[in-house]
Amino acid sequence: MTRIAYYPGSFDPLTNGHLDVLRQALAVFDEVVVGIGVHPGKEPMFTFEERSALIAQSLEAAGYDNGRVRVERFGNLVIHAARDVGATVLVRGLRDGTDLDYEMQMAGMNGAMAPDIHTMFFPAGPQYRAITATLVRQVAKMGGNVAPFVPEIVLAALAAKISGHSQD
Ligand code: ADP
Repeated sequence: MTRIAYYPGSFDPLTNGHLDVLRQALAVFDEVVVGIGVHPGKEPMFTFEERSALIAQSLEAAGYDNGRVRVERFGNLVIHAARDVGATVLVRGLRDGTDLDYEMQMAGMNGAMAPDIHTMFFPAGPQYRAITATLVRQVAKMGGNVAPFVPEIVLAALAAKISGHSQD
């Protein structure tokens, strides 16, 4: 039986923290489907296609088994998106107590709605605990160096996006 996990998030853009969660999930599951949430009215920095390409390229560069990871978009309930791809587990990362409180609420509601789908948490490595994609975007836009927080390919994409914007 192929064990499929569903890892939902914004991934706008992928960070070293996301990558570390993916590494841990790949050690446990046969396949991981990364679900990129697209919400009407929420303008992301990177398009779905850009985010998807950055994930594939970062996995490749990190030497992970790209063949076991698939990237999809979702705009519906996470449990429905997970079920649609045959996943029985939702993967989430935990950075701190704030993540835990929020994640426990989501796991509780998802578990009540879909008892057949189980939530599994992976802890952020100590070096990744402080990383959030929101701060990465903000720091990069203000000219800060986000090299310690994201894969090289994402760093280049951020630089290109930001220099593109400044020419607007
Ligand atoms: P962010 O909160 O960085 O904007 P997402 O909304 O894309 O990221 O989060 C998707 C999932 O990845 C969540 O479960 C979140 O807790 C987890 N995650 C995000 N950043 C990290 C990190 N640095 N280490 C571990 N897990 C993380």
